[in-house]
Amino acid sequence: MAHLLIVEDDELLRDGLSAQLMQAGHRISTAEDGQVALDLLQAEPFDGVVLDLGLPRVDGLTVLRTLRQRLPALPVLVLTARDGVEDRVAGLNAGADDYLTKPFSLDELQARLQALLRRANLPSASASDPGDGNHPLRLDAHLQRAWLGQEAIDLTPREWTLLDLLVRHTGRVVSRDEVLSAWQAVPGETGALASNALEVYVHRLRRKLTGSPLNIRNIRGLGYLLEMSPE
Ligand code: CA
Repeated sequence: MAHLLIVEDDELLRDGLSAQLMQAGHRISTAEDGQVALDLLQAEPFDGVVLDLGLPRVDGLTVLRTLRQRLPALPVLVLTARDGVEDRVAGLNAGADDYLTKPFSLDELQARLQALLRRANLPSASASDPGDGNHPLRLDAHLQRAWLGQEAIDLTPREWTLLDLLVRHTGRVVSRDEVLSAWQAVPGETGALASNALEVYVHRLRRKLTGSPLNIRNIRGLGYLLEMSPE
């Protein structure tokens, strides 16, 4: 069970989402505009957020950017009414983990959300969950700690943020910009970054993952991709 926040101004859709996700066993809070969402996010911890982009008072992209500064690892599924590529790119750049374009089926939303929660390895990721439950890495977003099998990996805050991004996007490319903007939100790391800092951190992370089936691949000109070699 996860505690989820649904941010949607369309009452019918909000109620439909709530009912569906409650039936799936989750605890649900709802917000009808961006300001209420920010207030709730400030007040209590959530395991995941479903966020509409077109919202009254404070728009969804602003909510996303604001929450990312404090909660870099919180899984966020963005809903967009518009099919524009710019919207999706803006959403992903602002820190969305996935997006759905309206209209979508509630079953698809639930499946995507479950995948996000599993990747974030929150309490809902029980052993009985089908899918990628055999990931050799375990990440605890609240403690910001990672384990490879039974062994804890010693990570600096920036390394943790990088690894978390890669894991949440396993099988998808994470761009340089995504990493650099996630790093801006890392507390206690104020030093200026050298131009090759990302390469240095990737190199260090690769060393710490040695011996596991995980590999960080450099996709020239695009970014990095976390791959799992078949056993
Ligand atoms: Ca809306």
